Amino acid sequence: MPMNLFVRYGKSAYVYARALARLFRGLLFGRVRSEYIALLFVKNRLRKESLLISIFVTATCSLQCEHCIMGNLLGARRGYSLSLEELRAFILISERSGYVFEIMLTGGEPLLWNNLKDALRILRASRMCAGLSLFTNATTIEPLFDAETVSYLDTIKVSQYRHNSENVDMLIRRYPSKVQIFHGEDFYVNPRVAVTHAVPALCLNPELFYFDYHMYACPHSASIAYGSGSTMQLANPLAVGFLKGLERIKHEQQYEICAYCISNEKVRLQVEKVANKGNLLRGRG
Ligand code: SF4
Repeated sequence: MPMNLFVRYGKSAYVYARALARLFRGLLFGRVRSEYIALLFVKNRLRKESLLISIFVTATCSLQCEHCIMGNLLGARRGYSLSLEELRAFILISERSGYVFEIMLTGGEPLLWNNLKDALRILRASRMCAGLSLFTNATTIEPLFDAETVSYLDTIKVSQYRHNSENVDMLIRRYPSKVQIFHGEDFYVNPRVAVTHAVPALCLNPELFYFDYHMYACPHSASIAYGSGSTMQLANPLAVGFLKGLERIKHEQQYEICAYCISNEKVRLQVEKVANKGNLLRGRG
């Protein structure tokens, strides 16, 4: 015999039925904004899939590349280093939010980060980590001679320059299945003013960016804002549900941020590409 919910659950069944009826009326008359409906699905998807994030672990770098897209951030936050205490807070809140991430450590130069080995161990043991890699300029590769450190990494992404070929070759020989090479010989020149006809952006960088207790909608916005002086909201503070609203932020940052970004294909078509020559070891910390 079919069960009558209104008899069995009485008052609460009426409350839910009225809420559903209101939602349905709202949808019918266009009073519920589509982004709220989309959020229900996005949240569900985030719990099932992993997202790619860059975690900015240190502002220290062994190179000084003139056109580094992170240059403004490195200059403004000289000496910044992600603490293990903050990393643990980030992991805890990600797990409470039900998020799972493919994680890439960046900087600066992550191999110069004092907490590297402990951080990799902690991240690997967490439920929020679906994959772990780092991006290095391979000028100082000693931390990668440690078997335990390397065992935590799925991928070692390496920028190849004229002066680091010996180290790059050594890494390829030692870890052929883990090393991925990216050519760093030429750089697009970062524009100083917004490039016209560059939005909506054709963005080549899909990942999110974690830095200093905040999750940013994209990996370059913090650095571009330090250079352009933009004060718009680019990130959410670290708190349960911190991914909520990042799509909206990415949409709203187009004119103030994406129009300056060399990861925007429409910007690349309009700026110069130059040899990366100002990059020998003078240190930046
Ligand atoms: S600033 Fe815009 S174009 Fe550049 S990485 Fe971020 S979202 Fe992509």
